[in-house]
Formats: sequence, C-alpha cells, structure tokens
Amino acid sequence: MKRERDKKAVILITIDALRADHLGPYGYQLRTAPNLEKFVEKGTIFMNAVANGPESPTSFSSIFTSILPLLDGGFSPLPREKITIAQILNEYGIFTYGIHCNPNLGSFFNYDRGFNIFIDGERFRTVSKIKENKNLKQITFSLISTIIFNIKFFNKLMYRLKGFNKVKGWLRKIPLITDIILPFIPIAYNAPYVTNRVISVLAKKKKPIFLWAHYMDVHNPYNPPTRNILNFTKKDISLNRKEYLNENLLKKKKKIKITPAILDDLKLLYNGEINYVDEYLGKLLEFIQVRFQNNCLIIITSDHGESFYEHGFFGHQANLFEELLHVPLFIVELGKNIELHKIQENVQLLDIAPTILNYFGIPIPDNFQGESLLPLVDENSSYRERFIISECYQKNGIMKRNKDEGFIMISIRSDEWKYIHDEENNQEFLFNLKSDPKEQSNLINKELIKANKFREIRDEHVNKISLVDEKSKILRNIETLDLKKSLK
Ligand SMILES: [Zn+2]
Repeated sequence: MKRERDKKAVILITIDALRADHLGPYGYQLRTAPNLEKFVEKGTIFMNAVANGPESPTSFSSIFTSILPLLDGGFSPLPREKITIAQILNEYGIFTYGIHCNPNLGSFFNYDRGFNIFIDGERFRTVSKIKENKNLKQITFSLISTIIFNIKFFNKLMYRLKGFNKVKGWLRKIPLITDIILPFIPIAYNAPYVTNRVISVLAKKKKPIFLWAHYMDVHNPYNPPTRNILNFTKKDISLNRKEYLNENLLKKKKKIKITPAILDDLKLLYNGEINYVDEYLGKLLEFIQVRFQNNCLIIITSDHGESFYEHGFFGHQANLFEELLHVPLFIVELGKNIELHKIQENVQLLDIAPTILNYFGIPIPDNFQGESLLPLVDENSSYRERFIISECYQKNGIMKRNKDEGFIMISIRSDEWKYIHDEENNQEFLFNLKSDPKEQSNLINKELIKANKFREIRDEHVNKISLVDEKSKILRNIETLDLKKSLK
C-alpha cells in the first residue's frame, strides 16, 4: 500500500518584492491579480504575514531553514549546518525541484542544497564574478558577459527600442533560447520561462514532489508590457519616462524631486508587473489543478515588499517598515472544498518549512523556529500572541551579507506593537500598528514599559547572534573554499 506521504505534492510559489497591500484580498482598490484572487477563493488568506528579512537572502534563508537569518552562521552563503527544507524532504524520498532567476539565491550561495533539480537562472552571472580558477568556457563567457554588461546592451534595447519588450517576452517562452540569453537580460520577464518549465516538469513527474518556483518580474526595474499597463490606465508610460523613473529613483543615479505624479507612475508600472505575473500564474494554477486535483498543497507568498517613498526610500534596502515586511500569504489545498477564510493572527515566513513537513507527515526538527500553519488552515488552533523578529545587516542604507560588513537592523512585532532598532545610528522606533498602521508616529519615548519589554527580547536575540559569530566566520571561509574548488 502507498504511504500517505507518497500521494502528496507541495508547490511553493514565491513572487519577489510583492507587497501585500497591492493585492485585492488585502484591500487594494485595483484588481492587479484577478487570477490569483479567484484561485485563493477556496483557500486561506493570512492577513498578517510577516517576512523575517527585508530582502531576498535573509527572507529565503528563513523560508528554507525555519531559522532566523542572522542565527547559526548567517544566510549568505547558507552555512552547512542550516539544513534546508529541500534536504529534509529529499531524505524522505520526495523529489525536489527548484527554479528561480534571482542572483542572490543561486547555487553559489548554497540555495540549491537538497534540490534534485535546481534551475539556477543566474548561475552564469555568479560564476562570471569569480576571478580565479576559470576554465576556458568560463573565461569566454565572462568576457562576453563583461562587454555586454558594460555597454548595457540589453538595457538600451529595453528602454530605447520600441517593441523590444514584446520580443523579449516571446524569446522567454522558449526554454533553450532563454537558457542562453537569460544571463544577459536585466532581471524581469521570467514569468513565461518559469511557467513553461514548471508545467513541463509537473506533466512528467509523479507524487511525492516538492516544487519551488520563483518569479522575478515584479522586482525592479519595472518595465511591464503595454497591455498590462493599459488594464489600469488609458495611455502607456513612454520608454523615456520608464528609464527616467527606474534609473533615477531605484538606482539613485540622480536626485530628483519626488512628486505625487512620479509616485503614481512608479506604482502603475509596479502594478503592471504584478498583472503580468498574474497572467502566467493563472496558467500555472489552472494546470496544477487539472494535473493534481487533490492531495496537493499550494503555498503562494513573497519574500518581501517594496517601498514607494513611505519613509523616504524606494525599492527594498535597509529598512524594516511594513511596506517591506508585510507580505501576502495564501494556502490552498486542492481537493478540499473549503470556503475562503481569513486568518488575522501574526504568522511569519519561518512557518512555511514546518507547514510543508507537517503536510507530508514528516517530523519537524527541534531547532525550527517557525510553526506549522496547518492547524490555522484547519481552524484547529487556539489563539496566542507571537513575537515576530525580522532582521538584516546594513551599512549606510545598503544591505550587507554579514556582521563584518554591516550593522544589525532588527524589528520585533507583536499583534499591536512594532519595535525597530538600527544599530548603526542607534535609532529606535516604536509604533502602535492598530492605531498607526503606516508607522508615522514614533512612541519610543512615550511608551517606556513597552519599549523596555522589546529591548529585552532584542538583547536576548542579539546575544545569540554574537555567540555564533566567530563560528560563522570559520564556516564562511570553509564554504568559500569549497565553492572555489567545485568551480574549478
Ligand atoms: Zn527579493
């Protein structure tokens, strides 16, 4: 007889930089993602899902290991002692497949660990960055790549040549061509590629399977096809204007005065990207429903949000305000006909790995810091308050990978309150999220008892980071050596 586990599939879909409040289920006034909205009608929406880091590496190390990013040797590269969800599943005989195009989540940083097949769209770009020990193929590749990057060939085509976006969209539908040209094209437009690849894998593979698919399109630069812009307005934004906004606001090439019109245009482009991904999500979700019908858990989320100048920032760099930490999270189990329900309780990305293990009936390791969300999905859990930590390293507003390069920035969130500490500037914030969800009024000098409680939690956590720091340094060196060896 087949074991229960062998009849199951888990599909984890992540959309980079997708903030929750730009989606209908979270109260957005525009229907940016109609396919997604329709699909989750038979599932669970987590209204208060929090990312444990404000950018991809911190956040994905939380998703994959269920351990906070700064603990146990850090997150970039992922140290060996942090066991990934794919490694555990693989040990239990579950086929694991991952596909992404994010430069921070490649095999170079160990994010491929435990995947039977890992389609690493950025592998050439990371390989080309390593100066030593290259073979002839790698040297040739890195030479071509350096030339193309330096003259910004594809960037120029993208913003100057009308119709190039359309061609690029078409090219990306063909996996072989995409494999060859992907490393030369700025991050964007991988939705057709990822979708087609995933569909062809799912068509062939049987359960038990764990599949992770990551979409980069919503991540800046924002340059969606015209048709997706026209779903929200009458006239497309010109190529010149797109270039101006992307280069000056997101890459900070020139300081420009921020006006409401600029913010509106930027958000329109961002919404267009969400709408573009949604077209392909619709295709993928339809296919999965036909292919698996039941015993399939689909988790859809994002690694972090995106800032639109709410606190003086754009993109996702070195801050821990809600525009970066509040992420969408949906769980749908195929074959289970439930009514849509919304969970208000605070949950976090650390909860995803235990949820997946729980679904497959695999014991959850003791050192996992998250908890399975299935009791909440099944409405089988009693309420209790949780404190959620989000963290990163940063210096001068730029994300860093470890303590040698940057300072700790940490936020701790309860149901009602949120505390932020910026080590570099020794700056503290305390917000009441119920009365001040936009985090405008800093109560750190008014709510002293609350502030002290959060400081206690912070100190206890930061001490644990310091304890492992020396060890992590050694681990990092070993990792780097191994990586160099394997690239020879
Ligand atoms: Zn990201």
